[in-house]
Amino acid sequence: MTADTMQCLICPGDRRVELRRKPVPQPGPDDVRVRILASAICGSDLHKYRQPQTERDAHGYSRLTLGHEGAGVVDALGPGVTHPAVGDRVVIYHLMGCGHCEHCRGGEPGFCRDLQGFNWVRDGVDAEYVVVPARNALPLPDDVDFEDGALLACNLGTAFGAVRKAGASGDVTLAVSGLGPVGLYTVMMARAMGAPVIGVDVQPSRLQLAERLGIEAVVDAAQTDPVAAMRAFGGGGGVHAAIDTSGVTQARSAAIESLRPHGIFVEVGIGDETVYKLSAPLNARELTLTGSWIFKLYEWEDLLAFVRRHRLPVKDVIGRRCRIDDAVEAFQLADAATAGKIMFDWS
Ligand SMILES: [Zn+2]
Ligand SMILES: [Zn+2]
Repeated sequence: MTADTMQCLICPGDRRVELRRKPVPQPGPDDVRVRILASAICGSDLHKYRQPQTERDAHGYSRLTLGHEGAGVVDALGPGVTHPAVGDRVVIYHLMGCGHCEHCRGGEPGFCRDLQGFNWVRDGVDAEYVVVPARNALPLPDDVDFEDGALLACNLGTAFGAVRKAGASGDVTLAVSGLGPVGLYTVMMARAMGAPVIGVDVQPSRLQLAERLGIEAVVDAAQTDPVAAMRAFGGGGGVHAAIDTSGVTQARSAAIESLRPHGIFVEVGIGDETVYKLSAPLNARELTLTGSWIFKLYEWEDLLAFVRRHRLPVKDVIGRRCRIDDAVEAFQLADAATAGKIMFDWS
């Protein structure tokens, strides 16, 4: 028997999060309700955490439940749902489209004109229960735990989408700027694909973690010129591809500057502005600049298979596990950007 109300986390901004109680949501005709068993703090949640409260109040974001990285068990179905079934283990795909436009039909709901996201239009996954369209509940195999499910939902999926766009392989030198959880997973996956990787950050603890995960080279951009280091790593002429997960203008620009002719830059991290300050026009080196936003619905099985086949040590990136009651402290820790991934255990 489900209670009438549930615990959930909201984020008023100004570096605050608060626990609240809300009614347990009821699934609409084509929805499922998922009992959350694991959720995680994302870099994009920190973006919200640091926003001014006035801004978040004006958009109504401060009322909505936070969180978009979640996994759990289907607990109730809308009357139109035939799949998944109650009791199924699922990961929540957090870009929710109309389900019938060309983009949704193509497995890319992120491009849907009616796109809905958590803590934007809908209540998020940092709650005991969340309601999502049935098509957004992806099957989680029995041998993958819920914690890994929450990591697959966003950070691992984001890294997978990015390394594919960068064309990572054994003969592609790759630079990854920003070594937070997404950056570290990008390194892990690119290494599994055989690519030599150099990582850039300004936090010594993150650089050390990347080294423990088997990266070839790291550069502390606070101490050393990152462009020179990345170019040298690529044999002097530059690297074949660079992925920025930091969202910082300076880091993005450095990553593009480090590319050799025909190099590919993949923008992943969220920044306040999309400005590139470059020393030469793109045509001089015929560079490709592209963006990558998590992964596609049709890539779910490939992503799962990749992580399992290569036995990626995905838990090594977790810096802290706690209950949602410790959310205030957990967000303070995440805000300091020194810890690894922070997980909430709801079981
Ligand atoms: Zn995320
Ligand atoms: Zn659509």
